[in-house]
Amino acid sequence: MAAPSTPLPHRAIIEHQVRQTVYRQLGKAMPRSASAPNPLVVNVSARHCHLTQEAVEILFGKGHQLQVFKWLYQEGQFAAKETVTLIGPRSRVISNLRILGPCRNINQVELAYTDAIALGFDIPLRSSGDIENTPGCMLMGPAGFLEMDNGVIRALRHVHMAPEDADFYGVKNKDFMKMTVGGPCGVSFNDMLVRVDPSFKLEVHIDTDEGNAVNLQPTTPVSLHK
Ligand SMILES: [Zn+2]
Repeated sequence: MAAPSTPLPHRAIIEHQVRQTVYRQLGKAMPRSASAPNPLVVNVSARHCHLTQEAVEILFGKGHQLQVFKWLYQEGQFAAKETVTLIGPRSRVISNLRILGPCRNINQVELAYTDAIALGFDIPLRSSGDIENTPGCMLMGPAGFLEMDNGVIRALRHVHMAPEDADFYGVKNKDFMKMTVGGPCGVSFNDMLVRVDPSFKLEVHIDTDEGNAVNLQPTTPVSLHK
């Protein structure tokens, strides 16, 4: 089987570099957004789950390793080829729930409120990893069932950034920022959780409800501020 190809640089990175080069060549002062160390990338996370290696083996068979379907913007993160069926309360199901890799040390399902309503779930808004006292569900894979006692959440909207980005925006890990989205359906999102790590690339994650509400397109103007 062919190895997954190396992804091209994201269009936001290329545009950011072009903008910086143009300002430099014109000898003009750069607007603040162009002088940022990194471009602001906003991506919509569709419903998905994170699983432990043990859970993957229960669902797909002993020794099974997740395979890369598509690399994500954050280094080393990928959408797996594998999907599972989620069985919620009252036996309502979502088929083809995508698994994101690599494996983690907890099992967590992230849904939008629209998904949760369709399934009959009442789910809390949590930051990733904070799954105490959250509802559970059943996952079904080709090799078996996984009963999750908890871990079904709506993920808190958040922005990944490296320390250099945190310095530029004047924020620190676990702070909250705002994101203003322009265009005909523009809104300002409050309470955008800041997550700082040297391995992170500057990227906002909102869910499908939020992305659809603002009709987020590659050309939609966005800005991040305190
Ligand atoms: Zn994220």
